[in-house]
Amino acid sequence: MTSDPSCLFCKIVAGVLPSDEVLRDDHVVAFRDLHPVAPTHILVVPTTHVAHLSEFAGSADPEACARLLAAAAELGTRFGAHGYRVVTNEGPDAGQSVHHLHLHVLAGRPMSWPPG
Ligand code: AMP
Repeated sequence: MTSDPSCLFCKIVAGVLPSDEVLRDDHVVAFRDLHPVAPTHILVVPTTHVAHLSEFAGSADPEACARLLAAAAELGTRFGAHGYRVVTNEGPDAGQSVHHLHLHVLAGRPMSWPPG
């Protein structure tokens, strides 16, 4: 498992930084966003340091990819009684602020489309 000691989410995965954790296994950790934009706002991150979704292009570990998506689905099902949204941001245009891949699982309110 690769880890970047300077990465915020690697520190959360390692337990060095606290988080409000809702799920953990060998492949993923999920915790509540510090600045939620919906009543349920959970981040699902791979336990291995992957900075961007693009790193999965062509060379992804299929088990790790599948587990990341399945964990988001499990959490959406658990917390989104009326539906949920799964989002990932990559690069400056999308507003990515933490460079460790994460899926946002948003639920608990109606959401508009297209996103801003
Ligand atoms: P993004 O802008 O897509 O990179 O999302 C990064 C998310 O990480 C933002 O929604 C932040 O609120 C969230 N965040 C930053 N620091 C923490 C932290 N220590 N614990 C939980 N969430 C965090």
